[in-house]
Amino acid sequence: MIAMPEILTIAVSKGRILKESLPLLARMDIVPLEDPETSRKLVLETNRPEIRLIVVRATDVPVYVEYGAADAGIAGKDVLLEYDGDGLYEPVDLGIACCRLMLAGARDRPDTTGRARVATKYVKTTRNYFAELGRQVEIIKLYGSMELAPILRLADLIVDLVDTGGTLKANGLVPLDKIADISSRLVVNKASMKMKQALLKPFVNNLARLVNP
Ligand code: AMP
Repeated sequence: MIAMPEILTIAVSKGRILKESLPLLARMDIVPLEDPETSRKLVLETNRPEIRLIVVRATDVPVYVEYGAADAGIAGKDVLLEYDGDGLYEPVDLGIACCRLMLAGARDRPDTTGRARVATKYVKTTRNYFAELGRQVEIIKLYGSMELAPILRLADLIVDLVDTGGTLKANGLVPLDKIADISSRLVVNKASMKMKQALLKPFVNNLARLVNP
């Protein structure tokens, strides 16, 4: 399915990515008609009648784009590493919402030598990381507040996003290894790139020029 041919639909994830994407879009003269922070609308018209934004959960951005319900989207590399689809191009690193995906452990018992338990939202990336090390671990999937797991001994280690390191520190955790540098990427539906070239190509090219002048 491809979204309406005369309209570009751009999926953006809520929170930090939306906040840091809006100034980039504004520099391309794309401004939502309502404030996405306060509006309850999930489809936001912009000053450009041919461009609309949809605001969705981070993990849903690649889903909307892969199925063509959105033509393009802005998603964190952390989400894209976990995503299994192949209907997406990832043409531009936007260099926003930067952080690191880190392995961390408790300050007083930072790592175990045996079969550690690792709590994370990022199961696939964590599995690949330990597989490359040839280390057997038990992965426990959590949906948030990973930092709590070592405190309550649910897990020995966590894999989570780290920005300033403040959250780790506040919870008695120390960083052990960097698994990946993370930033937000533009993702584009492969079919839209062909069918909506006239609208989508300038959008992608302008964004690329803006972040890599
Ligand atoms: P910090 O205390 O600055 O290291 O931030 C860590 C907390 O913020 C963790 O709970 C992370 O999951 C979250 N976080 C950090 N950077 C990002 C990001 N770019 N996108 C989403 N969540 C983030």
